[in-house]
Amino acid sequence: MNANATMQIVRSVAELQNILNPRQREGRTVGFVPTMGFLHEGHLALAGQARREHDVVVMSIFVNPAQFGPGEDYEAYPRDEQRDAELAAAAGVDYLFIPSVEEMYPHDSSIRILPGTQAEQLCGASRPGHFDGVLKVLLKLFNIVDPDESYFGMKDAQQLAIIETFVRDFNLRTAINRVETVREEDGMAKSSRNVRLTEQERKEASAINRALASGKKSYYEGVPLSEIEKIVSSAIENHTSGTIDYVKALAYPSLDEDFSDADEVIIAAAVKFSSTRLIDNIIMSTIKDERK
Ligand code: AMP
Repeated sequence: MNANATMQIVRSVAELQNILNPRQREGRTVGFVPTMGFLHEGHLALAGQARREHDVVVMSIFVNPAQFGPGEDYEAYPRDEQRDAELAAAAGVDYLFIPSVEEMYPHDSSIRILPGTQAEQLCGASRPGHFDGVLKVLLKLFNIVDPDESYFGMKDAQQLAIIETFVRDFNLRTAINRVETVREEDGMAKSSRNVRLTEQERKEASAINRALASGKKSYYEGVPLSEIEKIVSSAIENHTSGTIDYVKALAYPSLDEDFSDADEVIIAAAVKFSSTRLIDNIIMSTIKDERK
């Protein structure tokens, strides 16, 4: 690890922009890791990659109210700023940007950013307006930080696909890097929300990854994709007390239902437990020679 004893916590947009001002950068590159905090090894993998690839590493922690719907877990979202600061410094972050809601949204802005068809599936269908809020905060963060590259996890594969389209279609300067999902020993995807599982649910939750992996295996053995969703769904239903929100196979990253031209397919799952909802996914190649 590249512990950074001099990591600076920055709370104001003006201060961060001043620090990252192009004149002060003097040609140094900036890698950016946006998060909602309550950091775990998934976030730290993103920061580690940014550290290896850039002169300056900026991480943001902002639980963005614009991406939570009514009745979702905005208030209950886990937060621990002090622990986050220690972990971010240990991962080599230079500037930890922790703005307040008022700092990020000082005006009652009525402008909306509407993602396209990629947001109609999966979490976009279950959480109306969620990706509008994600794009809104990211456009602001990209403008504030002006990173050369930004790092996102494949755990949120739909979010990543939408962000890639957003950046391409609007000529945003940042490049987007995909980072593999970091998992617990039993295969469960690391997530800030995992702490909200009961002990029993935590044990069951590893079945989601196992179900996705068995779906991938069946697909590679020749089972048609139309059957794979059923195989994965019943494996989750049989091994967890959670309720399936969706289990769906789509072309990736287009998220089209028609995968005839796709090189890759995603099977994505969302499962609701008593007080939290978990997502996970697995990517499969449609090209036999590229399968692993
Ligand atoms: P969040 O704080 O949950 O909004 O996540 C911030 C970033 O970390 C997003 O790009 C996520 O996709 C990424 N991330 C979250 N969990 C993981 C994980 N288990 N492995 C890799 N990246 C992750």
